[in-house]
Amino acid sequence: MFFSSINGTNKKKIILLPHNNPDGDALGSSLALLFYFRKLKHDVDLISPTEYSEFFQWLPGIKDIIVFSEKTESIIKKKIINSDYIFFIDFNNLSRIKKLREFILSSKAKKILIDHHPFPFQFDFMFFDPKVAATSILIFKFISKMNFLEKIDKKIATCLYVGLMTDTGFFRFPSVTSETHFIAGKLIEKGININQIYNHLQEKYNINKLKLLSKALKKLKILKKFRTAYTSISSSELRNYSYKQGYTEGIVTYGLGIKNIVFSVFFFEENEKYPIKISFRSKGNFDVNMFARKHFGGGGHKNASGGLLEKSLSESIEYFLNIIPNYYNNLIFSI
Ligand code: 5GP
Ligand code: MN
Repeated sequence: MFFSSINGTNKKKIILLPHNNPDGDALGSSLALLFYFRKLKHDVDLISPTEYSEFFQWLPGIKDIIVFSEKTESIIKKKIINSDYIFFIDFNNLSRIKKLREFILSSKAKKILIDHHPFPFQFDFMFFDPKVAATSILIFKFISKMNFLEKIDKKIATCLYVGLMTDTGFFRFPSVTSETHFIAGKLIEKGININQIYNHLQEKYNINKLKLLSKALKKLKILKKFRTAYTSISSSELRNYSYKQGYTEGIVTYGLGIKNIVFSVFFFEENEKYPIKISFRSKGNFDVNMFARKHFGGGGHKNASGGLLEKSLSESIEYFLNIIPNYYNNLIFSI
């Protein structure tokens, strides 16, 4: 029923929404759908709740994204309220689209979730599977379910491959299955240049971002007893490095590179106003999704999650240091 209503015979107004500060999977998935729905001749807009990282400038179609700001607010509001379908891509919690939430709630559009994060809210239609490595896989399956695999061209395949690469850590994470590689293979058959994509994804630093990383690494602290590493960046530190969206991305992963460390945490004060954003990463069976849900009003996946705190940076770190002893057994026995 749903598929027949968007198979292209009836022009629909479609809105595509990735989450705030969209990563490679959120951007790749939504850009792929943008190209796809354009091919079906729908009236489609891709709206990002916040600016995206400048290191994704090379992605096909990225300039077509409407980024939410004071300037675009009224046009975005109109588009959302008048739409027939809104696709929620790579997230399942309305808190992750910031101010757009209000417009969504007053829109009568059918709401469709395409996502791989566990525990979603109820949407009108759900293409949801927490077992798949990336939302891009679900987009591939969505297009395949509509029997339109032939519509996946080189641009769409490139976007989906970016999602696969970034959410699997270049095909290394435990979420990778034979199906992940099967779909990657199908995308390669569309003529994508995998080496060029890899090079683009690797070129994710400029001198300021690299120096900011170095600052965070200098401040890295190890809680040996809890097999945990953590660090932080304050807003005053940001100012020294001409901070832009995306500069702190990846900092949290470095702690996990240390032998015996299974849990890495990054506290980020983007500006003097709350909240503090916290990123969690783990190796093995320590479940950071549960940890973020329980103590930081956030969520994510078992090995990668995030959350927010309405506290100062130092209070946030203190709050964390008070909780961590409760997880001694989980951390010490994590394999
Ligand atoms: P990151 O640390 O890169 O921002 O996010 C890591 C993972 O956790 C991503 O899969 C992201 O979707 C999820 N995540 C990050 N922040 C939040 C949050 O505030 N709420 C929820 N539910 N998930 C989050
Ligand atoms: Mn994802």
